[in-house]
Amino acid sequence: MRKLNGDEPGPTSIVLAGVHGDERCCVDALLSVMADVGNIRGRVFYGFGNPRAIRSGVRYVEANLNRLFRDPASLTYGESRSYEYSRSTFLKKYLDQADALLDLHASFTENSSPFLICEANSKGITEYLPISMVVSGFDSVEPGGTDYYMNSIGKIGICAECGYLGDPDSEKVARRTIMAFLRARGHITAPVVTRSQKHIRMRSLYLTRTDHFVLSKTFADFEEIRNSEIIGTDGDTAIRAGRDSVILFARNRNAVGEEAFLLGEITNSLT
Ligand SMILES: [Zn+2]
Repeated sequence: MRKLNGDEPGPTSIVLAGVHGDERCCVDALLSVMADVGNIRGRVFYGFGNPRAIRSGVRYVEANLNRLFRDPASLTYGESRSYEYSRSTFLKKYLDQADALLDLHASFTENSSPFLICEANSKGITEYLPISMVVSGFDSVEPGGTDYYMNSIGKIGICAECGYLGDPDSEKVARRTIMAFLRARGHITAPVVTRSQKHIRMRSLYLTRTDHFVLSKTFADFEEIRNSEIIGTDGDTAIRAGRDSVILFARNRNAVGEEAFLLGEITNSLT
């Protein structure tokens, strides 16, 4: 973990990239912004979540680091003995010292639009970030991320999904988002701008019941789906949307208990 210490007092923040090791664009964006940022106010910790996975270019080595920040009592035997668990313990030492986190990610879905994952406590920061879609509700449907951890200890956790990990624009989105975060947090003195944002609240996560979950089609992130539309088949059972929804992170799965998709709905504000 690296630290920028400003000459003037100010808040403490933390910026992470590479919590998933194959999201290289975020690692490159963080390195380039912090090399150029110059003098700041307060303190900013910054670093890489999963160095071993970054070196190998894989999402994770033994366990998904971004699920290991939940209550340790709820972790599986394998999770609690993984390399990533030792990383979560290491990272918590720095998360505990900061008041707000920006954690940068990129999607494995082609053409994915950038979006923010945060909760209502992030008002005052998120509206200044250059990403037009703001998604809440992850803390309850998919706990265990870095942002979840920050919120759980009364601080502010924001995760920025910067677009498809193979798209060169994703690195630019990540760079702009880091700069806007540093401005919104008062580390850099510069005008901040708000933008109009669309809000979505996630409602449920579907975990597979068989080892053969197949989507009925490829779904774009945040694609709108109709009540009772078939999303996929889990073994022999057709899985339908229970109401009009938006779908996120939909993928085929071949093991029981895997995350297959999330459903949410459009809301008027960050709730
Ligand atoms: Zn990620």
